[in-house]
Amino acid sequence: MNKKELISIVVPCYNEYETIPFFYTEIIKIAEQMNYVDFEFIFVNDGSKDNTIALLKELAIKDERARFISFSRNFGKEPAMFAGLQTSKGDYVAIMDADLQDPPALLPEMYNTLKTEDYDSVATRRNTRKGEPLIRSFFAKLFYKLINKISETEMIEGARDFRLMNRKMTDAVLSLQEYNRFTKGIFCWVGYKTKWLEYKNIERVAGKTKFNFWKLFKYSLECIIAFSTAPLVLASFLGIFFTFIAFISIIALIVRELVWHVSAAGWPSTMVVILLLGGIQIFSIGVLGQYLSKTYLETKKRPIYLVRETEKDIKKEEQNQKEERFE
Ligand code: UDP
Ligand code: MG
Repeated sequence: MNKKELISIVVPCYNEYETIPFFYTEIIKIAEQMNYVDFEFIFVNDGSKDNTIALLKELAIKDERARFISFSRNFGKEPAMFAGLQTSKGDYVAIMDADLQDPPALLPEMYNTLKTEDYDSVATRRNTRKGEPLIRSFFAKLFYKLINKISETEMIEGARDFRLMNRKMTDAVLSLQEYNRFTKGIFCWVGYKTKWLEYKNIERVAGKTKFNFWKLFKYSLECIIAFSTAPLVLASFLGIFFTFIAFISIIALIVRELVWHVSAAGWPSTMVVILLLGGIQIFSIGVLGQYLSKTYLETKKRPIYLVRETEKDIKKEEQNQKEERFE
């Protein structure tokens, strides 16, 4: 009999003590239903401050499919996803949130599509944002409009990080070793054939969202800087535009002086121009600074995440205890 294929499920967890039991119950139901494949669950504990790690250890002892990587501190969802993908051994890999906003019930269909149709990944997008604060939806929509105008990589609105990919695409995603990661963009950048499934937004089963407005705002800047250099072009364009205006004004002033002998009057207009130009200059320097800071972080080549312990450590501990008993 052929060996069964393996699906790795990567689950980034930050303070998810309340939700992991729900997630685990649901995912093992699906694993049972899909008994024609093997599963491994890779929980990435992203420096949780609650008891998430104890729960993950418990799962790892009880279920050999459950593995975990625990970070030395909170690194963020992006590094957590990267670590999970790096650790995964599956022929197929899926990334799923711990809060059940990514319905595990879609997995059989996703796997089926990859097996029978000519696709490398099946991705998901929400076609509603019900249950989300209105202001968040508004800015999310605005962000997608903007990024799709200024970036060559097409970003799909409402796209989730939840997708099932084959090994080829997973390795491609892992080959992008950048420090400032925006995985949704990386998925699009690597290309490959992706089928999109749509579903209605589901609210998290328990606990609270880890992304407040400010964090999301910074995340969207991350994306713009990682996937577009349009702001730099805009800064240069503003520079050229105002130099041009200044040039025309100089000529106009000279002509006025020579022809009508009128000397310039009024400092308010001068002040306004100085303020406007000053503002634009500082803005442009700020834009440059953003790119520079990201480049600075990239050139440092710091690791994307640091591991404190994994399920292998507790297995080692168990082994040591057994050996001690026999001595
Ligand atoms: N997450 C993480 N590190 C962080 C923030 C979030 O690993 O610093 C995980 C979190 O535990 C969850 C997923 O990322 O599994 C999505 O987070 P959340 O549900 O809070 O985001 P939302 O769905 O509200 O956008
Ligand atoms: Mg969520």
